[in-house]
This record gives sequence, structure tokens and C-alpha cells, in this order.
Amino acid sequence: MDIVFKCPGCHQELEVDSSAAGETIPCPSCARTLSIPQPDLANLKVGIASHASAAARQEKHFAVPVSEKPVQPLIQKALPPLQAAAKDGKRHLRTRTIRHIDCREVGQDKFDQTVSEALGEIGDDNVVGLHPISYTYVEMGSQKILSDYGVIIVYKG
Ligand SMILES: [Zn+2]
Repeated sequence: MDIVFKCPGCHQELEVDSSAAGETIPCPSCARTLSIPQPDLANLKVGIASHASAAARQEKHFAVPVSEKPVQPLIQKALPPLQAAAKDGKRHLRTRTIRHIDCREVGQDKFDQTVSEALGEIGDDNVVGLHPISYTYVEMGSQKILSDYGVIIVYKG
């Protein structure tokens, strides 16, 4: 069963399962701390209660006590976890740079494999661009300056 009551601060109508009666929560509208009233005939949302007169309800709502108790876990559930929030709204352009020199193993060249794996991990739909790069480096053995290639993957993530 749901309890319907109004925030004493902003009069926002709130609905909560009666199992939460007596808990202290912040109003989702104005953040004022309020206590969820015990269920009674005036605020229960079922059966005859929903026909209770608006005036009777109004009185009840103003009688809701305000508690200074610290916020209860119920609130934390209402807030989206940070990670979810980041996934929802905050996708940024990112880059991944893959240099050919980092993909060489003894007797093997894993450049294509490495790039393919990176693309698969990022996902087709997230790839914005693929840019070839060239760079120079000093080869350890010969101390020669060599040039090589690589790729920068620009993606959303
Ligand atoms: Zn409020």
C-alpha cells in the first residue's frame, strides 16, 4: 500500500510504500528533511482512503512532523550512482594512441591485431575517427633515429 502525503516545506505531493512509514527522508523536490507519516485512512492510497476529502488530507499533511535526524539510506537509493550518471550524460571524446613499436614482439608484428582488439573493445558505434601518425625514435641497438607509424583512435566513452 502506498502512503500519499505532502512535503510540509514545498507541498510537493509524495507517494511512498507504507513500509517506509516513520523513516526520515529529504524531500525530492526541495530537499527539506521530512518524516514519512504512519499510514492512516486519510493518506492511504487504496480503497476508501483515496476518496477522503482533500481538506481532510490537507490537514494531515501540515501535521507531518519535521525531523532533524540525519538522512536515512532511503535517500541514497534515490540518487543515481556516480558511475551510472557518468554513463548517462557524460560521455567524452577520448583518444587511444597505438604505436607500431609497442606492438612488436620477438618475431611477430601484432600491430593490426592490437588495433583490431582496441576497436572491438571500444565498439563500432563509439569510434569517431582513426588517424594515422608517424613518429621517430632512437633504436636501442644502432642508436639510429628511425621513423615508424601508429594510429590514434578517437572515440566516445
Ligand atoms: Zn519539499
